Amino acid sequence: MELKLSCPHCQKPQRQLLSWPLGPSFCESCQTPLLVHPTESFLNQKQLDQCPLCGSAHLYRRKDFNQKLGIVLVVLGVALAYFTYGVSLLIVTFIDFFLVRKVKEVGVCYQCKTEFRNSPLVAGLEPFDLELFDYYRNLRARVP
Ligand SMILES: [Zn+2]
Ligand SMILES: [Zn+2]
Repeated sequence: MELKLSCPHCQKPQRQLLSWPLGPSFCESCQTPLLVHPTESFLNQKQLDQCPLCGSAHLYRRKDFNQKLGIVLVVLGVALAYFTYGVSLLIVTFIDFFLVRKVKEVGVCYQCKTEFRNSPLVAGLEPFDLELFDYYRNLRARVP
């Protein structure tokens, strides 16, 4: 499993690779222990039922799609449409379609925004929920 996170102590963005049996992980910059909230099922690599970093029980999964690449493709397709009699639009639509189908899913913690990749556990998460997302965003806004 690959984690993309910001250290809760020094905020340094970094990647951490986890392998099982799970050992302790530390911030690469300040050495703060990172996985301080692992659950039994996470330790047994059964379920990502709680964020191992912040302890939030709310995580979602989304397509790990590069949105910038998607936009570049669409712009290219539109720009070339005049010269290709619209064929470029079709091609771009096809590329988009296959990219979206091919990309893997990424798990994200609503609270600390840690991203979880390359793990079968991600498939067990709930899809994105805007209400929960807003709830945690308001929560963060209140904490100075
Ligand atoms: Zn740190
Ligand atoms: Zn978290």
